[in-house]
Amino acid sequence: MSKQPNVEQMVTGAYQVNTYIVSCPETKECVIIDPGGDAEKILHMLRDKGLQALFILNTHGHADHTLANMELQKALNIPVGMHKKDFLYFFQPDIQKKSEKELGLAISGTADRLLQNSEIIKVGTLEIRVLHTPGHTPGSVCFLVGSNLFTGDTLFVGDVGRTDLTGGSLPTLLQSIKEKILVLPVETTAWPGHNYGETPTSTLGWEMEENPYITDFILAEE
Ligand SMILES: [Zn+2]
Ligand SMILES: [Zn+2]
Repeated sequence: MSKQPNVEQMVTGAYQVNTYIVSCPETKECVIIDPGGDAEKILHMLRDKGLQALFILNTHGHADHTLANMELQKALNIPVGMHKKDFLYFFQPDIQKKSEKELGLAISGTADRLLQNSEIIKVGTLEIRVLHTPGHTPGSVCFLVGSNLFTGDTLFVGDVGRTDLTGGSLPTLLQSIKEKILVLPVETTAWPGHNYGETPTSTLGWEMEENPYITDFILAEE
């Protein structure tokens, strides 16, 4: 199992996205997950903690989670990783326009490292495992680092992501949660893409008891 990371959670951008700086305690290398804006604030945090960013990772292609990609990429000269399905999907001009209209935000930049399910990204002593969890978008992913799961807009504290936006599907989302997330240890910490719940984080064990989508739609079926 991968070593445990240091995790910084910060809220960025107009859509109040949770941006995460996930770093190796030994080498001080890190990744930036979902820079939703406020590039200066993120860069300041890196300098303040003495961290070296190796990748920008997006849980999905929605503009509110990717808004500072380009500015950070320029400042740090590092690759942007996104699941290949969201890249192929959201960067088609017609889909891009539709999604930008839905979110009221222009999609920022591009991705140069296309991620696949089960892929492992090494950062210092950390292993970041990509879990493809489609449903909120076709290429939504969660990132598993030690016992920490960064869930983007797939799973919130006590809630799940919207599936009414372009490319969304509730049955697919529930299947992803069942097959990719609920198979992880109950003590896994869930770090969501927005603070929509009562607390900023939870555990998968708590979600299995309290999240109505899980209790009523996934576990009730079994
Ligand atoms: Zn989203
Ligand atoms: Zn979001």
